[in-house]
Parts: sequence; structure tokens; C-alpha cells
Amino acid sequence: MAVADSIRCSNCGGPVEFKPGEIIATCRYCGFLTVIETGKTFDFEHSLLPNKFDNEQINVVIHNWMHSGFLKPSDLARKSKIQERNLIYLPFWVVSAEVTSKYKGIFERIAPPIVKEGEIKKEYNWLVLARKASDFPTKEYDVPLEGKIPYDFRKIEEFAKVLNSEIDRSEATELARQQIEAHHRYLLQKDVDRIIEMTVDFNVKQIVYLHAPVWFIKYVYKGVSYQLIIDGASGFALKGDIPAANF
Ligand SMILES: [Zn+2]
Repeated sequence: MAVADSIRCSNCGGPVEFKPGEIIATCRYCGFLTVIETGKTFDFEHSLLPNKFDNEQINVVIHNWMHSGFLKPSDLARKSKIQERNLIYLPFWVVSAEVTSKYKGIFERIAPPIVKEGEIKKEYNWLVLARKASDFPTKEYDVPLEGKIPYDFRKIEEFAKVLNSEIDRSEATELARQQIEAHHRYLLQKDVDRIIEMTVDFNVKQIVYLHAPVWFIKYVYKGVSYQLIIDGASGFALKGDIPAANF
């Protein structure tokens, strides 16, 4: 078990708790950010996506999810019991970048094969989860960035948990670069079958540190426990285990 440690917030003097591996901590009393290794304060933009549901409202969202979709058992909403319901603000880095890939490759689907050149140019708000071990489905998560506001600790519910970052800004940028390049390699398969050369120009416009509300639900149906993950900003189910329906 990791033991929580604590330092003093340089803004309000309150205790700031962190665990080994965490490098950026948010003060729960004033929202100030501290870089743990250096003890320095953080001078980048810190944003928050507000959560839209309280404990009762999230029950309605869960209930509706259980009722929707024909793949679920028809008595799922009636027979399930909610075992755990945790609101967690997860830390993300949002890397906004314009990425241009120029490539040359061979198109082999016709005979004789031809050499083709092309370019993929796109803008991204690429999301990097700032936690190392997590089964959070980042790919399914279409962050509603329009709704973000400057981080406000007063908006964080008493019962909610705010996780600290385990990944720093430069690591996150590097991860975004690798993931976008891999994405471009995937996209250009439409155009060429074999890449001869490729250059990637990665132009970072902005990097934002963001906390987003996610509900982690555990429910029990016929003695078995299942997990459901709901985006607290939109109410969409990001991932949900469904018991096999009995036809
Ligand atoms: Zn503070």
C-alpha cells in the first residue's frame, strides 16, 4: 500500500497530500497546484469540467442506462443494486496541436503498383490521461472541452476525490506525439499499402491541465458485480459491463 505523504500548500498553508509517483498535486482547500519534486508552484492553465450530477441525479442516469439497449436483461434496472458510487476528478493533459504528416508510399492494390505521395494535416485536442495505471477508456472519451472553466476548488463536491498527476507536461506531450503519429500511420493505410518515407511536423499550440469528473459505479446483479463508468460532464456511459441476457 502506498502511504500518503504531505507538504504545505504555498498559497494557503494547508496540507497537500500526495502518494509516491504523483508529481502534481491540487490543494483541496484552495485549488493551488504544487509540483511535488521541486515544491514549486505551477504556472500553466488549469481547467475544470464541472460535474452536472449529484448522488440522486446520477441514480437516474444509471437507471436510464440500465433500461436502454436491447442487449441488457429486461429486469436489470429492477434487480440491480448499486454497491459503489464514486465521483473522481481524473487529471488529463489536453495537447492542442496541428500535425502534418507527409508521406511517400506504394499503392499495391492495382497492377502494376504505383508510388504515391500525400499529406495529412489535422488539428487535435489530444487527450492524455495523467495516471499510469488505469482502465479508463480514454479512446471512448470525447471530452466536452467547450464546457471547461478555470479550475475552481469550490465546485468540487465534499464526497468527491481529486486525483493528482503522475505524468508531467513534457511526458504528456511526447505521448501525444507518438499516439498522433500512430493514428496518422493508420489513416494513410487508406492511401498506400507500404510507406517508403514519412515526416511528421508536430506543432503544439497549447497544453492545458484539466480535471474531468468521472463516476465509477459498481452494481450487483444476481450476485455478480459489474462496473459502469459515466462521464459526469455529459452523463454518457463511457464503459459499462452488461450481464448476459437470458433469452
Ligand atoms: Zn492551498
